[in-house]
Amino acid sequence: MGLFRLLFLLAIIAMVYWLWRRFIQAKHAAKPVKPAKPEPMVRCANCGVHLPREHALASGPQWFCSTAHLKQGPNQGGQ
Ligand SMILES: [Zn+2]
Repeated sequence: MGLFRLLFLLAIIAMVYWLWRRFIQAKHAAKPVKPAKPEPMVRCANCGVHLPREHALASGPQWFCSTAHLKQGPNQGGQ
Protein backbone atom coordinates (compact mmCIF):
# COMPACT_ATOMS: atom_id res chain seq x y z
CA MET A 1 0.00 0.00 0.00
CA GLY A 2 2.88 2.34 0.78
CA LEU A 3 4.29 2.05 -2.76
CA PHE A 4 0.92 2.83 -4.29
CA ARG A 5 0.58 5.94 -2.18
CA LEU A 6 4.08 7.04 -3.15
CA LEU A 7 3.30 6.60 -6.85
CA PHE A 8 0.01 8.46 -6.39
CA LEU A 9 1.88 11.30 -4.71
CA LEU A 10 4.46 11.37 -7.51
CA ALA A 11 1.69 11.47 -10.10
CA ILE A 12 0.09 14.44 -8.37
CA ILE A 13 3.43 16.24 -8.11
CA ALA A 14 4.08 15.58 -11.80
CA MET A 15 0.65 16.90 -12.69
CA VAL A 16 1.04 20.02 -10.57
CA TYR A 17 4.46 20.60 -12.09
CA TRP A 18 3.04 20.17 -15.61
CA LEU A 19 0.16 22.54 -14.90
CA TRP A 20 2.54 25.06 -13.35
CA ARG A 21 4.77 24.95 -16.41
CA ARG A 22 1.78 25.40 -18.66
CA PHE A 23 0.66 28.35 -16.54
CA ILE A 24 4.11 29.97 -16.79
CA GLN A 25 4.21 29.40 -20.53
CA ALA A 26 0.75 30.88 -20.93
CA LYS A 27 1.85 33.91 -18.94
CA HIS A 28 4.86 34.37 -21.18
CA ALA A 29 2.78 33.80 -24.29
CA ALA A 30 0.24 36.37 -23.17
CA LYS A 31 2.48 39.29 -23.95
CA PRO A 32 0.71 42.53 -24.68
CA VAL A 33 0.06 41.90 -28.32
CA LYS A 34 -1.57 44.91 -29.85
CA PRO A 35 -4.85 43.87 -31.38
CA ALA A 36 -4.82 44.92 -34.99
CA LYS A 37 -8.20 46.52 -34.86
CA PRO A 38 -8.92 48.55 -37.95
CA GLU A 39 -8.97 52.22 -37.18
CA PRO A 40 -11.96 54.02 -38.64
CA MET A 41 -10.76 56.42 -41.30
CA VAL A 42 -12.49 59.63 -42.25
CA ARG A 43 -11.97 62.04 -45.11
CA CYS A 44 -11.25 65.70 -44.68
CA ALA A 45 -14.11 67.61 -46.25
CA ASN A 46 -11.72 70.38 -47.27
CA CYS A 47 -8.65 68.72 -48.77
CA GLY A 48 -9.87 65.15 -49.06
CA VAL A 49 -7.05 63.59 -47.06
CA HIS A 50 -7.85 60.41 -45.18
CA LEU A 51 -6.92 60.24 -41.54
CA PRO A 52 -7.81 58.24 -38.43
CA ARG A 53 -11.08 59.42 -36.97
CA GLU A 54 -9.59 59.99 -33.52
CA HIS A 55 -7.20 62.56 -35.03
CA ALA A 56 -9.86 64.23 -37.11
CA LEU A 57 -11.96 67.21 -36.14
CA ALA A 58 -15.70 66.92 -36.46
CA SER A 59 -18.05 69.64 -37.59
CA GLY A 60 -21.51 68.21 -37.74
CA PRO A 61 -21.47 65.30 -40.15
CA GLN A 62 -18.19 66.43 -41.71
CA TRP A 63 -14.62 65.72 -40.70
CA PHE A 64 -11.55 67.86 -41.10
CA CYS A 65 -7.84 67.12 -40.84
CA SER A 66 -6.92 70.35 -39.09
CA THR A 67 -8.40 73.39 -37.40
CA ALA A 68 -7.43 75.46 -40.46
CA HIS A 69 -9.55 73.29 -42.71
CA LEU A 70 -12.27 73.19 -40.08
CA LYS A 71 -12.42 76.99 -40.21
CA GLN A 72 -12.32 77.02 -44.01
CA GLY A 73 -15.15 74.57 -44.14
CA PRO A 74 -15.84 71.94 -46.77
CA ASN A 75 -14.28 72.40 -50.17
CA GLN A 76 -16.97 73.28 -52.64
CA GLY A 77 -14.81 72.25 -55.56
CA GLY A 78 -14.25 75.80 -56.70
CA GLN A 79 -10.52 75.51 -57.33
ZN1 LIG B 1 -7.80 68.92 -44.80
